[in-house]
Amino acid sequence: MNILLLGSGGREHAFAWKIVGSPKCSKLFVAPGNAGTAQIAQNISIGINDFEALTEFVLENNIGMVVVGPEEPLVKGIVDYFQANPATKELPIIGPGQLGATMEGSKDFSKQFMERNNIPTAASETFTKDNINQAYKFIDAQTIPVVLKADGLAAGKGVLICQSHQEAKESLREMLVENKFGEASSKVVIEQFLDGIELSVFVATDGKSYKILPEAKDYKRIGEADTGLNTGGMGAVSPVPFADTDFMQKVEERVIKPTVNGLHKEKIRYTGFLFIGLMNIGGDPYVIEYNVRMGDPETQAVLPRIKSDFVDLLYSMGTMNLDNYKIELESFTSTTVVLVAGGYPGDYKKGDKISGLGKQVKENNSLVFHAGTTLNSDGDVLTNGGRVIAVTGIGQDVESALSNAYSKVAEITWDAQYHRKDIGQDILALVK
Ligand code: AMP
Repeated sequence: MNILLLGSGGREHAFAWKIVGSPKCSKLFVAPGNAGTAQIAQNISIGINDFEALTEFVLENNIGMVVVGPEEPLVKGIVDYFQANPATKELPIIGPGQLGATMEGSKDFSKQFMERNNIPTAASETFTKDNINQAYKFIDAQTIPVVLKADGLAAGKGVLICQSHQEAKESLREMLVENKFGEASSKVVIEQFLDGIELSVFVATDGKSYKILPEAKDYKRIGEADTGLNTGGMGAVSPVPFADTDFMQKVEERVIKPTVNGLHKEKIRYTGFLFIGLMNIGGDPYVIEYNVRMGDPETQAVLPRIKSDFVDLLYSMGTMNLDNYKIELESFTSTTVVLVAGGYPGDYKKGDKISGLGKQVKENNSLVFHAGTTLNSDGDVLTNGGRVIAVTGIGQDVESALSNAYSKVAEITWDAQYHRKDIGQDILALVK
């Protein structure tokens, strides 16, 4: 089968590596891809939101399945677009429809969904500019810290944890009145702060059945010991020791089942990955957020741990046949370290030549996934974004996985490379 994958990050390089590793894939195309996907698949220069050009490409190249990596085309309705066209109506496309994507595209929508389906989450209320005075009163009645969330997509920056009522009210005004996050903050969810340990749970679903993928913990801040600005993620570890059988059973019963059943019952078409951000509070799971795609960099830690055929997994999701898929997981640990351009998440330079990458994705016990990279005419790999490379180490335990990841990280250099040196140290301390 010919497959088209959309996206250009480390997540998509990991997807591409798993897809081409399956005997079921004849040819993989990636739109637009990066220098890493170019080494294992064929990149095509079509944007992820150019639905018309993507449809034309699908029809001309006998594509048998489309896999959507990032949320943006999903929220913009790519699945509905393909399904409205008689020529692509039957084509398996991995990702939810536009309404399903609203689970990520609108925090208010997902909070209401959780409420209707009795899924544990922080208590909250949603406000607009029109009822800002009620919102101020609501804030005054909350304990501190209190959490403000822009309703729409805000590139991971739309959540503010406020340490005083005054700060919360000022931030709320900036969001609702001064449009701090543009249209995304025309509605704001104000919610209770959840104090616990965070983890990410991943589910593959065809809208009726589901398979639970390996869970992961990510490291969001730029600085060591979780300091400094929030980023797209600086590392990940899978599995997570505190996600033991007992906890995961609670997650399945209280969160995953009611979520998948709720989507089905409410006729919200959902074929794809569901990423559930959870807080573990004293052994009980609470949902922080839903994302309608896999996480980056968690994917780079999670996918190497899927042993069963990955194209079969995708295809059985896309053909509503997931019930018959038998998922097998690897028992080893994966740890992922993200290498970024100096200055990220602020301003950074592009175009630096990267050395030490190696030729294969997987060499010994480390895997190298590209994100913001491009090739020049001499075939050199250059930095082309803030998040540049993700290195995953695998091993029988966290210690050996980290050692394998960091040995490879040490070989990869460019002018202003930066990475955190403390990924997984908290987990190492837990298991020691
Ligand atoms: P979100 O975009 O909803 O994932 O929020 C981004 C981050 O803010 C999460 O990963 C959490 O670390 C934090 N966060 C969000 N909601 C809460 C909450 N109710 N209590 C504590 N932390 C939160």
